[in-house]
Amino acid sequence: MDASRCILTREMETIPNLTDIDIYIQHGGYQTVEKALKMMKPEEVVKAVTDSGLKGRGGAGFPTGRKWSLLANRFPRYLCCNADESEPASFKDRKLLEGNPHRVIEGMILTSYANGINLGYIYIRGEFFQIIEQMDRAFAQAYERGYLGKNILGTGFDLDLYTHPGAGAYICGEETGLIESLEGNRPYPRLKPPYFPAAIGLWQAPTIVNNVETMADVALVVEHGADWFKGFGTEDSTGSRLFGLCGHVKKPGLYELESTITLRSLIYDVGGGVRGDKKLKAVIPGGISAPVLTPDELDVTMEFGEMAKAGTMGGTGGVVVMDETVCMVDALLNISMFARHESCGQCTPCREGMPWINDMLRRIEQGHGRQEDIDLLLDVCFNIEGRTVCVFGQAPGVWPTRSFIVKYLPEFQAHIEQHKCVVLPVEESYLRKENVEMLGVGVFRAKNS
Ligand code: SF4
Repeated sequence: MDASRCILTREMETIPNLTDIDIYIQHGGYQTVEKALKMMKPEEVVKAVTDSGLKGRGGAGFPTGRKWSLLANRFPRYLCCNADESEPASFKDRKLLEGNPHRVIEGMILTSYANGINLGYIYIRGEFFQIIEQMDRAFAQAYERGYLGKNILGTGFDLDLYTHPGAGAYICGEETGLIESLEGNRPYPRLKPPYFPAAIGLWQAPTIVNNVETMADVALVVEHGADWFKGFGTEDSTGSRLFGLCGHVKKPGLYELESTITLRSLIYDVGGGVRGDKKLKAVIPGGISAPVLTPDELDVTMEFGEMAKAGTMGGTGGVVVMDETVCMVDALLNISMFARHESCGQCTPCREGMPWINDMLRRIEQGHGRQEDIDLLLDVCFNIEGRTVCVFGQAPGVWPTRSFIVKYLPEFQAHIEQHKCVVLPVEESYLRKENVEMLGVGVFRAKNS
């Protein structure tokens, strides 16, 4: 992607002190608020976002315009900007808030105006205490300049926005867990249906929950138009996206790219290749919840649909590169420790299943695994999937577990047979594509097994 078209990151990288509202306004900031509030009807803003094809950047990739159109026809309504970025390997929202907070506020104002909202929150991960302070300063500046508060720019539109710090639980990033937390409750996710936020959200009112990057993209859509936005990417994945490249790669960092880029090009052309010119063993393409891909599967593009066809997901755009030195059992053990720790405990399959998976993986990694453990692990996955209140059971639980075990079966079996940690050469460590049957996103079976 031409660097001059990288809007979000170019702004952050080339304009000093962009966090200051005067600098932001000097570079065209908040003009979309003037434009939308004075010259556009709310439904025109909704239409622009719908026509742009913008999909949510929080992980699920749900079309933003459609999400807005599902709002129940009741008032008051609320906005929650989800800045509880806790998915391991994901850091795009943090960078965006650190470098370009007013772009996010602009998107929140436009989203509120479009949907008849007069009160909104940005729910920020508690560990991001500096960002919380910075957002408070940015909100105060926006109030001083008349972009927030009563009768914004003399248009009669009122809007109050507040920061709300999270308390450090991963599950607060799940939209209904976030809402429970905002209400002051333990963040147990709610059952859907009936508790889709668009219908019954914050304080039982219709609520929009959108990701930080999505908010910033809304501002871009209103500034440049839906056609401009669609000029990036493909029909399935419009606009540019922020990818956080990390792990064993020469040039880790945050990159703004079109989703038409392949995973191979992202790692080797953008990221400079594998650190130390070692062989690549595995890649997680969208935060640790995304099923792992083998070296045979790098030619998939980063589009939402193409990722799904490959049995994984674009998720949060956090790409983890693993080189030949990685023990795949140990890597999965690490993920399962996170899942065990972060299960909120509300439903039994997840509360009990995550520790079982973690215990079995530890046993295998330490050389005490049993032949039947592989089937048992897959059986536990089967009994979690679709039987939990929220997607957490699948996302950092079942999907990574099943994909690691099925695709890297030789390495798991070597641990069990040799009663010790065994890091196989890359070529011997995974099953070839033709030997793995893909039955859906995150659902695999080793053929003839
Ligand atoms: Fe909590 Fe896990 Fe159930 Fe989600 S699936 S509600 S995280 S116990």
